Amino acid sequence: MMATGKCFCGAVRYTAKLENRNVSACHCGMCRQWSAGPMFAIFSSTMDIADKSSLGVYRSSEWAERVFCKKCGTPLYNYLLGKDFYEISAETLDDKSGLVLDTEIFVDDKPGYYVFANDTKKMTGAEIIADISAQMRD
Ligand SMILES: [Zn+2]
Ligand SMILES: [Zn+2]
Repeated sequence: MMATGKCFCGAVRYTAKLENRNVSACHCGMCRQWSAGPMFAIFSSTMDIADKSSLGVYRSSEWAERVFCKKCGTPLYNYLLGKDFYEISAETLDDKSGLVLDTEIFVDDKPGYYVFANDTKKMTGAEIIADISAQMRD
């Protein structure tokens, strides 16, 4: 299912092929500091950006890049290196209808000052890293 989205200022616009409309919230320290809260991500196997002149790329770990708008600072997506897999910030989607928060990851890194009432599948950092490593081997 194709979806469009953009950063806060509109300098970066994308088209992506979403796997589904399931949203996962990542509570890891990197996501929280980068995106000013848990990162609400939706997954895509494609990312098509016509004008990349405002794209900023930060290599945040051995296996991922964090991509943002250099003009307005909006975090756009994480790109998992070596696999065409994009974790797009759900808040950048133009159409947020039908999104469902169904998973929370790095729950062991979540600070105590907030908690979600949604009924979600909860995974620790170790569990999700094992999951991603298994996918990377495919
Ligand atoms: Zn922008
Ligand atoms: Zn994270």
